[in-house]
Amino acid sequence: MNKQTKQTTKQTKETKTSQENFIQIAIEEAKKALKKGEVPIGAVIVKDGKILSKGRNMRERKQNALMHAEVVAIEKACKKLHSWRLDGCEIYVTLEPCPMCAGAIANARLEKVTYGAKEKTSQDNLFEQILTSNRLNHKCIFAQDEENEKECSDLLTNFFKSKREVLKKQE
Ligand SMILES: [Zn+2]
Repeated sequence: MNKQTKQTTKQTKETKTSQENFIQIAIEEAKKALKKGEVPIGAVIVKDGKILSKGRNMRERKQNALMHAEVVAIEKACKKLHSWRLDGCEIYVTLEPCPMCAGAIANARLEKVTYGAKEKTSQDNLFEQILTSNRLNHKCIFAQDEENEKECSDLLTNFFKSKREVLKKQE
């Protein structure tokens, strides 16, 4: 069961944080991942205009393929709300979610996904297909934050570029 929070009565500065700031906070998470040598992807879950949880890609550190930024953020949010249902919550993520995370987002009943960079490696729109699939009894809306797209995708492009340069030097 969801624990009722006191957020509705408390007017804090955080409640005024704009959508743009939330994706910026996800970008900060992505940068933290980058510093640890991880693929720079970050996510933030927001409820009633306040940050509920943050997550960043931790696949290398945890040696766990499940540790994508979205899953990390979902896990923390569920712990905070003592509920697997994240009703009324939104997720902001720096990259269009992969099929695993799209499934996790739908299963966690998140209301909306806002992502920065578009997944360029495939043209199959798997993310959108999953979220709009009839197999899911929960509908989650999604949107791209085009204003912050470049910053999100540059992080990834630069990361993979430097990885390739390191590999070249090793040849
Ligand atoms: Zn993922």
